[in-house]
Amino acid sequence: MLQNRMLQDKVVLITGAASGIGRAVALMAAREGARLVLSDLVPEAGLELTSLIKAQGNDAVFLAADVAQPDECEALVAHALHHFGRLDVACNNAGIGGVQAPVADYPLEAWAQVIAVNLSGVFYGMKYQIAAMLPGGGGSIVNVASILGAVGFAHAPAYTAAKHGVVGLTQTAALEYGQQGIRVNAVGPGFIHTPMIGALEQDSAVNAALVAAHPIGRLGQPDEVAELVIWLASDRASFVTGAYYPVDGGYLAR
Ligand code: NAP
Repeated sequence: MLQNRMLQDKVVLITGAASGIGRAVALMAAREGARLVLSDLVPEAGLELTSLIKAQGNDAVFLAADVAQPDECEALVAHALHHFGRLDVACNNAGIGGVQAPVADYPLEAWAQVIAVNLSGVFYGMKYQIAAMLPGGGGSIVNVASILGAVGFAHAPAYTAAKHGVVGLTQTAALEYGQQGIRVNAVGPGFIHTPMIGALEQDSAVNAALVAAHPIGRLGQPDEVAELVIWLASDRASFVTGAYYPVDGGYLAR
């Protein structure tokens, strides 16, 4: 039975692992047999998750890293190689929502911050992850984009631009490294119940509008995104690369 686990013995690195979608991916990867390299901006929740996963019998290490800092992304990959000697899977998940304002009013520093975390953070991550995967003969990278990697959303120009950028970056890396055994894909969650959208959900009118935008009639759960991430990460998706997969309750079908 154990050998049927989708990520058995794979070394899996996850950014933004302490909360929401990243946490769901980490717990599901552990159930599927992965050895985990977990990371987040601040250590507390990440270390707690690491202890939980270790108590369940999986190998896991944690390193705090800001994905907007290239040297911290490089150190995170070095941490994986130091502990496990290889890197098989990376899920570039860390992200922020950012300020809400239309383009003409969008603060310059807020734009720079969202692009730094949500777009440059994925580039820095892939840059060092790919270099580490090549000597091992390949790997799989799953970047967490958004439905806003495919369509616009009023008052979220930086977030939307960054997520569109993540999709293009994903496609480009897939073209470059496919023949060297590295698959690179992106997922596009609709609105998912996580702390990131907690403030939106608290406003009942906004929450109702968000629910109405999803033909399935509700928002998503982190586990429903994790299911797709784990499949894309695994060898079961061996012919899938350069793809962008919505997991959005039908949001993009309209
Ligand atoms: P979340 O619960 O807020 O989790 C995001 C995690 O990333 C948090 O632990 C956060 O730490 C961490 N983080 C923030 N900035 C970071 C940085 N510079 N370096 C490293 N870690 C950082 O949000 P989520 O909803 O799970 O989001 C995960 C991903 O899904 C994001 O890329 C997001 O854009 C994407 N997504 C979410 C939704 C949704 O509706 N929730 C929809 C589509 C796509 P702090 O809490 O300390 O900031």
